Amino acid sequence: MKPAPFGFAKARSVDQALALLSEHADARLLAGGQSLIATLNMRLSAPALLIDINGLDELTHIKVTGDTLEIGALVRHAQAERSGEIARHAPLIALALPHIAHPAIRNRGTIGGSIAYADPAAELPACLLALGAEIEIANATGTRTVAAEDFFTGLFETALGLGDMLTAVRVPVARPESRYGFAELARRHGDYALVGLAAAARHDCKGLRDVRLAFFGVDATPVRARAAEAAVERGEDAAAALAHDLNPDGDVHASAAAKKHLAGVLLRRVLAQLAEPRP
Ligand code: FAD
Repeated sequence: MKPAPFGFAKARSVDQALALLSEHADARLLAGGQSLIATLNMRLSAPALLIDINGLDELTHIKVTGDTLEIGALVRHAQAERSGEIARHAPLIALALPHIAHPAIRNRGTIGGSIAYADPAAELPACLLALGAEIEIANATGTRTVAAEDFFTGLFETALGLGDMLTAVRVPVARPESRYGFAELARRHGDYALVGLAAAARHDCKGLRDVRLAFFGVDATPVRARAAEAAVERGEDAAAALAHDLNPDGDVHASAAAKKHLAGVLLRRVLAQLAEPRP
C-alpha cells in the first residue's frame, strides 16, 4: 500500500521543529523512520505533515555530566552500539542494543524514536525503567523532565502530548558496585522479543540491593516485577514471587502460560548475571 498524501518539512533546528509542531496539530516527527514509515504505508497513521528531524546535530550527543549520562534523541542505535561512553557508563543499554532488530535498522533507528514509539516488546523502554532514567521533553513553551516510571502510560502511549518532542534521556552512570543483567527470548535474533528482562542492582557485602527488574513483552508497557525484586533482596525465591507481578496476555506468538514460563526462565538467567562481578 502507499501512504495517504502528506506534507513534508525539513527542520533546521530543534526550535524550528517545535514551532512547526505547535502550528500543526496533525504533524508527526520523522526520526529514523523505521517504524513510522511502515505505519504510514499501512495507513495505520495518516498525519498531514511530516517534520523531518534528521540532521539536527543538537540531538546527537552522548555526554557525561557529573553522575549522569545523557543521550540525545537522534543518536542512532548503531552509534550507541559503538559508543565507549555508553559501554562504560550505561552497560545495561550496551547489553540491550544488539538485540534491537538488525544492523540495517539499527543504522537508521534512533534512541528517541524507539522510546517515543513505546512498543511493549522493545528493549530500550525496559532498560530506562530498570535504570530509573529521566526523559527530557521539549515543546514550544519550554522543557520538562519525566521519570521513565511515569513515561510509558499504555500500549504505544506515552507522556508525550501534542507539540512535544523527546529531546534526550538521562541515566545514572554505572558505579563499581552496580550490576546489570539483560536477556530476551525471540523467535529469531533481531525479532521483537516474546519476553525480555532488563535488570539493575547494587551489590554490597550482604548481597543485591536496589534491585530493579523490568520485564517487556508481557504487558502494554514495560513492567517492574516488584514482588520478585523484594524476594531477591530478602534472599527468597524470586521465581515464585514473580507470579504476583506478571499477568501476561497470550498473543499470536505465545500463550499467556508460555510467557509466564519464559519470564521465569529469563529471571533465573538474569539473576545469575547480576551475581557476577562486572568486567
Ligand atoms: P520513527 O520511525 O521515525 O518514529 C517512530 C515514532 O516516534 C513516530 O510516531 C515519530 O513521530 C515518533 N518520534 C520519533 N522521534 C521522536 C522524538 N524525538 N520525539 C517525539 N516523537 C518522536 N525495535 C526494538 O526496540 N526492538 C526490535 O527488536 C525491533 N525490531 C524491528 C524489526 C523491524 C523489521 C523493524 C522495521 C523495526 C524494528 N524495531 C525494533 C524498531 C526500531 O527500533 C525503530 O528504530 C524504532 O521503533 C523507531 O525509531 P525511529 O528512529 O525509526 O523512529
